[in-house]
Amino acid sequence: MTIDGPSGAGKSTVAKCVAARLGFTYIDTGAMYRGIGWLARERGVPFREGPELDALLQDASLAFEEHHDTTRLIVNGEDVTERIRSAEMGMVASDISAIPSVRHWLSALQRSLGERGNTVLEGRDMGTVVFPDADVKLFLTASLEARGGRRAAELCARGEAVALSKIVEDLARRDRNDSSREIAPLRKADDAIEIDTSALTVAEVVDRVMQAVERRRGGRV
Ligand code: C5P
Repeated sequence: MTIDGPSGAGKSTVAKCVAARLGFTYIDTGAMYRGIGWLARERGVPFREGPELDALLQDASLAFEEHHDTTRLIVNGEDVTERIRSAEMGMVASDISAIPSVRHWLSALQRSLGERGNTVLEGRDMGTVVFPDADVKLFLTASLEARGGRRAAELCARGEAVALSKIVEDLARRDRNDSSREIAPLRKADDAIEIDTSALTVAEVVDRVMQAVERRRGGRV
């Protein structure tokens, strides 16, 4: 099952709840782009195609590990779970995600994780490019204001105080980046169910998703 949509539409919260309800594994593919962005920046590798980026990808290892009920992202042996969550790392991920070799590398890894079945994969191109044959595809959207408010609350809870206007500006820029890139742009798959979450609670969205899943039950989700 795939859940795509722009930043702040509620994908992660909903995907985690739905995965828990179904007993499925939740896979946060945005974290994977953040992880590679973190590694490239840490090593001073420029964000463009070339031998340096090729060497970085060849040597990169990225894995999710479960520790005491939390999922940790381990990049080349380092736990980067908290470090990749800043607003700045969101932009870094958006920039590096437009590079074809990075997308190929991560798409292959995502396919190998998803092919095990019983997964909820959340991202931008899960239903369009990585798993075009997924049985249940969701596309979550929300107004820029609603998304900005949610992202502000999230960052605040992590102790990062960023002005709402700056958050909205970053979201709009990431929307532009993600929707206009040539490779795997953010768009709704033709067969995805679209839900505008602006005025809905998490529980209401999860209910709608579960109804969609029920309709497909009997098939592979
Ligand atoms: O979902 P999250 O905000 O963590 O994603 C960070 C960035 O990674 C997005 O803005 C997007 O550019 C990129 N991304 C992507 N494809 C995915 C998941 C994330 O391009 N499947």
